[in-house]
Amino acid sequence: MKFEKAKFLRSYGSVQQIQDDKTPQFAFIGRSNVGKSSLINALACKKDMAKTSSKPGKTQLINVFDVEGHVHLVDLPGYGYAKVSKQQREVFEGLITDYLLHSETLYIVFILIDASIPPQRIDLEFVAWCGEHKVPLGIVFTKTDKKKKKNTEANMVAFEKAVSEFFEELPIILETSASSKHGIPELGRWINEQIGHV
Ligand code: GDP
Repeated sequence: MKFEKAKFLRSYGSVQQIQDDKTPQFAFIGRSNVGKSSLINALACKKDMAKTSSKPGKTQLINVFDVEGHVHLVDLPGYGYAKVSKQQREVFEGLITDYLLHSETLYIVFILIDASIPPQRIDLEFVAWCGEHKVPLGIVFTKTDKKKKKNTEANMVAFEKAVSEFFEELPIILETSASSKHGIPELGRWINEQIGHV
């Protein structure tokens, strides 16, 4: 399966709509600015398939991209915006939790973690929430090219250590950079392996 064949399919504003989707879904989520749009674009070898935006909180719908009819890449709204109203936040946090708890074809949700900053409480809480609710999850570190800040490696180790306290068996953990493309082929290969396209 070639990720460069990915195409925007449609946006969903409610979980009822997406429940008719029978294709395995690989979802992506993270705090605003974590590099989610950049990662999806890098995976699909596109410049702007997923919209990168400097405006936090803009993606409030669930955007779905089809890859040759085999998998759907699901771009979930980010969590943890400081700049939106409580009411707005509740609406899209509701959409995210509804989706994660009720999508029947969710294969995995990749939780994106910015490797250039130390572990953030909101990310750890989100990982723990997914674990408690048995939502299948993987951890994808982003921005690993930011090596100048030597702390990148230490940040990832600290995050993994914190996560290991929630799980007997660690989830899949991948390191990526949309800028250098480090780890992007591995992410694509991993998804292909899951659906039997080796
Ligand atoms: P989103 O809000 O999670 O979709 O994040 P974006 O993809 O829009 O990226 C947020 C910012 O981080 C932008 O300025 C990107 O250029 C930058 N960014 C994204 N990925 C990387 C990366 O791998 N390395 C570096 N150095 N910067 C990145």
